[in-house]
Amino acid sequence: MLKISKLITLCCILFVVACHEQPAPQNNERSERSKMLIANMKLARDPHTWSKPNDARVTHLHWTASVDFKSKVITATAKYDIQNISGTDLIIFDTKGLQVSATKVDGQPVQFNMGEDKPIIGQSLNIPIKADSKSVEIDYKTSPDAEALLWVEGEKPFLFTQSQAILARTWVPCQDSPGVRITYHADVTVPSDLMALMSAENPQQKSADGKYHFEMDQPIPSYLMALAVGDVVFREIGPRTGVYAIPSLADAAASEFSDMQTMVDEAEKLYGPYVWGRYDLLILPPAFPFGGMENPKLTFATPTIIAGDKSLVSLVAHELAHSWSGNLVTNSTWDDFWLNEGFTVYFEQRIMEAVYGRERSEMLATLSRQDLDATIADISSSEHPEDSKLKLALEGRSPDDGMTDIAYNKGYFFLRLIEETVGREKFDKFLKEYFTSHQFQVMDTETFLDYLRKNLVDAETEKKINIQAWVYEPGLPSNIPSVQSAQLETVDKIRLNWENKKVLIANIPWNNWSYQERYRFISNFSEDVTAADLSDMDRAFDISHTGNNEVLFAWLQQSILKKYEPAYPELEKFLVHVGRRKFVAPLFESMISSGQIELAKNIYTKARPNYHAVTIGTVDEMLAGK
Ligand SMILES: [Zn+2]
Repeated sequence: MLKISKLITLCCILFVVACHEQPAPQNNERSERSKMLIANMKLARDPHTWSKPNDARVTHLHWTASVDFKSKVITATAKYDIQNISGTDLIIFDTKGLQVSATKVDGQPVQFNMGEDKPIIGQSLNIPIKADSKSVEIDYKTSPDAEALLWVEGEKPFLFTQSQAILARTWVPCQDSPGVRITYHADVTVPSDLMALMSAENPQQKSADGKYHFEMDQPIPSYLMALAVGDVVFREIGPRTGVYAIPSLADAAASEFSDMQTMVDEAEKLYGPYVWGRYDLLILPPAFPFGGMENPKLTFATPTIIAGDKSLVSLVAHELAHSWSGNLVTNSTWDDFWLNEGFTVYFEQRIMEAVYGRERSEMLATLSRQDLDATIADISSSEHPEDSKLKLALEGRSPDDGMTDIAYNKGYFFLRLIEETVGREKFDKFLKEYFTSHQFQVMDTETFLDYLRKNLVDAETEKKINIQAWVYEPGLPSNIPSVQSAQLETVDKIRLNWENKKVLIANIPWNNWSYQERYRFISNFSEDVTAADLSDMDRAFDISHTGNNEVLFAWLQQSILKKYEPAYPELEKFLVHVGRRKFVAPLFESMISSGQIELAKNIYTKARPNYHAVTIGTVDEMLAGK
């Protein structure tokens, strides 16, 4: 007995030590080292920045800011450590809508000037420097309509940022290119009843005076700069994981995401240590334009994934996977976006398989394939059919145009094909080595392919995979891996039989189905399905009031296409409340394509004030001239 309890005590101590071990010294060394690496690294030309980081580059930011909800303005000073690499007499920053009032170099005031204001990329801020200049200070204010920022009104207001792809420049003057990495410290003042959080080490409790200090000592690109301010509380999940949410959602969020620690553990088993310290999740207001954003140490997530049954947690696996692909090894420019997202979807699937089993990850892969086929069909009939290549050419366009299923799911299937061709064991070893040897670096498509050829794929295998077609040609090569989900195949059979009147509604096993099965059933309705059929289904299963937002989305889209009007009040409620672009854009698109323009305009008038600029940009464009 004694022996055992001693052993247990010892184990506990070891465990506690292991968990609370401060990795700081090692991390500092690493970030020092990686800063050096980065300083010497020549960066690719990025058409979406004014800055010239190969001449003069920022390395560290000290950001002092005060957040005012009344005027919707952040007043701030950005003090940067800089390196003058080429001996240039100018350091250039990206800005968009910022009001710059003063600049200093090494503590001395200097005269700056602003360049031409361009629609997508904004304006350059040009500051004269000397060969030995060490620091630059910029005093500025954001504009109330800064695109990265959404000021959500309510009983307690909420502010959040969304910087990716090139919106960081609307709240911090920066060298806004994914290749430029900085460490940062910040001192932020907010109303004292709210908590401030950043993509940095975070507080777990509100401060008494609304003042917060943040440190991010690992170098990150500007698109991972993030700030949120709101009435949130913290709930611990595991030793390195937790969730922040408004008080009324905190318990639901903590139970929905209770597998987060397991996900981190499984991810580490696959591709090596999680190097960012804590992994926490912040649940944002429903206006958040994305499902999640992989801000380091603190993923920002939409509340629409809280379903009550963990059915939508693959989103957390996705954002967690970005801690390796994207945050650690970063796409060089937005033309290489698939290196961020394709790898992340692949890794997400592997985490889902490890935690929830192969059938679940294969169901997800089947739905990915369904989305990918639809996207390829859309793109091939669009004005940019070349957008279905993995390697993009977005010069002169918004990098947002590249944020399609191509980067995510075509990228995923390409990597899965490599895995299936060389074998999983070899591919895992290769990926682990790839992430480790390129930490805190940038990667472009060509460098990755060289690395792949050198370390994994010989000429014969390359021919089998047909890398050229996957990366540089539009559409889907015929050797795309096939996905097998027995459960979804059954769903397809039942749907066909129901459509052909061979199965009655009462015999559809709806109540036993997972979200993936329900989504598959609804999203594949053929042309023959009518509003009357939807009415019967709604009566049987009350789908218009489902608590699962993915299922609701698919249902509302079919309701629009079949003109099932009893669902329209729910449609309006959903669109006014939820600003997630993945849902919002296809719903408006469906209203437009089915000729219900007035309906679209009426709902959009009510919904638009609640949306983030990212979502507004997309829907404005759809409705322009209609
Ligand atoms: Zn992603």
